[in-house]
Amino acid sequence: MTKVIFVVCDGLSDRPIKEFGRLTPLEAARTPNLDLLAKEGICGLVHTIDVGVRPGSDVSHLALFGYDPQVYYTGRGPFEVAGIGMKLEKGDVAFRANVATVNKKLVIIDRRAGRIKSTKKIAALFNGTVIDNVTFLFKESVGHRMGMILRGNGLSYKITDGDPHVTDVKVWKVKPKDNSKEAEFTASVLNKFLTYSYKILKDHPLNKTREKRGLLPANYILVRGAGVVPEPPTFEEKYGLKAACIAGAGLYKGIAKVLGMKVLKVKGATGTVETDILAKFKAAKRALKKFAFVFVHIKACDTLAEDGNFEGKKRFIEKIDKAAKILVGIKNALIVITADHSTACSLKAHTADPVPILIRGDDVRTDEVKSFGERSCGRGRLGHIRGSHVMPIVIDLMGLAQLFGA
Ligand code: ZN
Repeated sequence: MTKVIFVVCDGLSDRPIKEFGRLTPLEAARTPNLDLLAKEGICGLVHTIDVGVRPGSDVSHLALFGYDPQVYYTGRGPFEVAGIGMKLEKGDVAFRANVATVNKKLVIIDRRAGRIKSTKKIAALFNGTVIDNVTFLFKESVGHRMGMILRGNGLSYKITDGDPHVTDVKVWKVKPKDNSKEAEFTASVLNKFLTYSYKILKDHPLNKTREKRGLLPANYILVRGAGVVPEPPTFEEKYGLKAACIAGAGLYKGIAKVLGMKVLKVKGATGTVETDILAKFKAAKRALKKFAFVFVHIKACDTLAEDGNFEGKKRFIEKIDKAAKILVGIKNALIVITADHSTACSLKAHTADPVPILIRGDDVRTDEVKSFGERSCGRGRLGHIRGSHVMPIVIDLMGLAQLFGA
């Protein structure tokens, strides 16, 4: 059976940059290896959700893997908590929680509490808190981040965030999004917790010490992305393929876990600009011995674009390209390289611009595309497809598609 290495470069594609003579960072970067893969394969553009839809990373990954986000997505929380190893049960509502700094009027001063290094102590402080028979579970994640689960009867994910996502405004009271008594109850119990946790944190010795050291106090918990455990068929149930994931950032490991992929540990895979891409590709090559489908996630293009750092993004793409030499040498597997969405340096945000894709393999038709870029892939023979088309194409190229009709 043909096996697959499926690389998603988060936020890879972009809009024209004046300083690059109106080329995108991907077009401006020197990428001989990605260009060779594009030349030897078939290319196109993907609207990961749909034309004109600006996708979040979570829903776009689900779509690329062939899982309809309308069916399987309620919020980001469940993927975040799965990514840090928290076990979700049926009926739980999961959140992403950030530790932040607020003033006495509950106006947000810093959404990351001065980029606090660890939330371990704060997570331990509130883990197991019970309010109105609902248990609050916490676990630390990277930096200012935590996973939070509400466990109890009669909960709903249909509530708003407590995080306004900007500074200099008051924290949001959580509100129900529908008229159900479950949503009303969940919002009420969560608001009680937020008031309680602020009371504990504002005078806590931990923050007294931080303030003495000139650091911002970590005195508020911003919650967002409420969602319930999605129960999709696993990747193996859906496609009959044993799948593995190589990623640095928690969300992507979480998505992989929810889809039943085996998350492989790779030394140096950090999800940051410093990540060891070569180690990830080498691990992917090795993983082909045991797995039919290996998903590799590379995060930093997105992060750099969200900082407006087009030079850094171009350099990071060149770093991906250097490591991609190892992919050029893999002849007995399909190599798929794409992105989950475009992230525009000019807007510092995700955009709905379609993303380039290349598929290279022995049995794959080729086209006239000779380089991997937004414009060049737009002329590719795959044409313009949706994210939901990607897996059916891959499965067919593997020779595994079911016959429709007789
Ligand atoms: Zn993304």
